[in-house]
Amino acid sequence: MSEFACGKINDIVPYVPGEQPRDRCYIKLNTNENPYYSSERARAYITERVLKDLRLYSDPGCGPLVRAIAQYYGVEEQNVLVTNGSDEALAFCFQAYAKDGVCFADVTYGFYDVFAHMYDCPAEHIALRDDFTIDPADYFAKGKTIVVAEPNAQTGIAMGADALRSIIANNPRNIVVVDQAYADFSVHNAIPLIKEFKNLVVVNTFSKSRSLAGARVGYVIADAALIADLNKVKYSFHPYNVNTVSMLLAKGAIEDDDYFKSTVAKIKAAREKLARGLKGMGFDVLPSSANFVLARTSAVDGGKLCGRLKSQGILVRHFPGGRIDDYVRITVGTDEEVCKLLETVKKITESAE
Ligand code: PMP
Repeated sequence: MSEFACGKINDIVPYVPGEQPRDRCYIKLNTNENPYYSSERARAYITERVLKDLRLYSDPGCGPLVRAIAQYYGVEEQNVLVTNGSDEALAFCFQAYAKDGVCFADVTYGFYDVFAHMYDCPAEHIALRDDFTIDPADYFAKGKTIVVAEPNAQTGIAMGADALRSIIANNPRNIVVVDQAYADFSVHNAIPLIKEFKNLVVVNTFSKSRSLAGARVGYVIADAALIADLNKVKYSFHPYNVNTVSMLLAKGAIEDDDYFKSTVAKIKAAREKLARGLKGMGFDVLPSSANFVLARTSAVDGGKLCGRLKSQGILVRHFPGGRIDDYVRITVGTDEEVCKLLETVKKITESAE
């Protein structure tokens, strides 16, 4: 640290992203990326002409993409805001709505805590039950902003449409932010609820189900008044927050619904194979509605399993020190990647016995 940084920057514990090593070719199951390439139809939008015209600023309103998203979900353009990854959308939400207090689960996406600290939002952690499920009643009438990931991050467990609706309905005077990074791998989506609930902010991403993590595009769908709030934050921070190339890739990805559906279906099938394979080796596997599973074995602890897999060329994620210290989080890859992972885990656990 330098002597010039302000107090906050000295104190803050930043978010630690999963590793993105470039030194060798790993089977990469550590950051919940999509194992399939981005849509070819989306890539076709990136013409020579588009590249030449990068001399111009990007469209600050992201018009073509906003229209494509609005059409896809049957909402109005005023209900949509496009952001630089959904992390930026979440940051805008914390800045706009969390200063008087925010609550979220004790096991969830680690960035919520970082944003709370960064933007001086008093945060309350609500413990998940022992089986890592959410008790929706714990979130009723909190008198503060609520952030939930549905399905939840790190566990992959979805609370379900009725539980989610009950949380939104029981906090009419507070904002409920629903982080849907993994919702396309689940069975329900909160977006239609924005017509009914003026306090609902639904945060989405192109990073997972639409194979565009590197393009950094997220979007918010909410009542027009909430989108206006978030636009105020955006235009006070970074008007050209999404670059032209990424905007066109995301537009192409949302238009290419067949590709989206076929890749999501493959990932869901591979998730079941992965969970079955791990259970067959005696692992506890949490029921996942996301593109990853959280699992543990008594044969070898989470940190060691993660390290041993890495030395065999497979990256998974371990979250040390908290309630999920025993577990590893494994992103669902292609069928071949899942087979390779299962084979390697079998060797590691057998040799540990
Ligand atoms: N929310 C959750 C629950 C996540 O796991 C992630 C990915 N790390 C994000 C949001 C952010 O994703 P992105 O910024 O790539 O859209």
